[in-house]
Amino acid sequence: MAKQQQPLLFVERPAAPTTRTLAEIVKSAGVAGLVDADLRADQARYQDVTCRSALNRVTGMPFKWTLNPYRGCTHACHYCFARRYQTQFELGAGDDFASLILVKRNLVEVLRRELDHPSWRREQVALGTATDPYQPIEGHYRLTRGSLEALARSSTPVGVVTKGPMVVRDRDVLADLCRTTRSVVYVSVPTVDDDAWRALEPGTAPPLQRLRAVRAMADAGVNVGVLMAPIVPGFSSARSKVERTIKAIADHGARFVGCNVMYLQDGTRAHFMDFLRQHFPAMVPRMERLYARRSPPAAYQHEIKAMVRTLQARYGLERRRMLDQSREGEGETGAEPEQVGFGW
Ligand code: SF4
Repeated sequence: MAKQQQPLLFVERPAAPTTRTLAEIVKSAGVAGLVDADLRADQARYQDVTCRSALNRVTGMPFKWTLNPYRGCTHACHYCFARRYQTQFELGAGDDFASLILVKRNLVEVLRRELDHPSWRREQVALGTATDPYQPIEGHYRLTRGSLEALARSSTPVGVVTKGPMVVRDRDVLADLCRTTRSVVYVSVPTVDDDAWRALEPGTAPPLQRLRAVRAMADAGVNVGVLMAPIVPGFSSARSKVERTIKAIADHGARFVGCNVMYLQDGTRAHFMDFLRQHFPAMVPRMERLYARRSPPAAYQHEIKAMVRTLQARYGLERRRMLDQSREGEGETGAEPEQVGFGW
């Protein structure tokens, strides 16, 4: 008698591709080859990927490990240094960066294994170095939340950088991490100037909403500060804008503030210059002069940083320099002018 076929109770979803497979698909068929990517209401496409490791070892940074639950970022900041990393997946640093997001669905499971390994030394792990861990889709997948819980369980300190007010959701676990380890949260608010925000960070929450998140986390016991990063010449570098921003940061209970000046490299540079040509053509010649190299001249950076230091002191904010992506110390002479003379 023929064996009766059992009904299928679960339809197994095929395993998500690894990033290497994904890069091969994109190389041969373009982004259109990612037929399983979900198109969501925000018009971004979300592609599940299988990660083999969760913690990435890095060198030349103030931390040794990074963790990124997603690749790409719907916050879509035009200056984003992570745009250039997209080329590792055969993706473009322009629209692809903000409209196709890779989701490491097995990240928390892999992370738990790595943290349980006897060789793990509990060195600080940085989140938010190549994508925003609190971009809106985190509300759905909760990969950042799961990662923080695993890190807290293993008493591993974290440094989180985000522009997403959703970070407030996780203030319980972040406060726990700050109580038991040397952890820190940086909310990124490069400027409170509305015009600069709208132009440069089209997918982010308004700066004051981010600062309210700072207040909520400080009240919950999180060691929270603000990164004015990056300050973008011509958009947010005027002294009046910098002073308004630092005053607002101090008013919202931040414990410290750090800053850097925008740098442009590879795909990020190409994208940023295209953006300027399209929307602010009059700025192009000057920006090209200022960015003849990856960063503006050391003297220019020094002027901006000195101005920020002066204003920090005026508003009682401690200086903190972790995650300053520009080469620290470069061009610093120790002089701290009260006024600076640059036009932008
Ligand atoms: S929020 Fe951060 S990771 Fe996202 S686009 Fe902006 S700078 Fe890049």
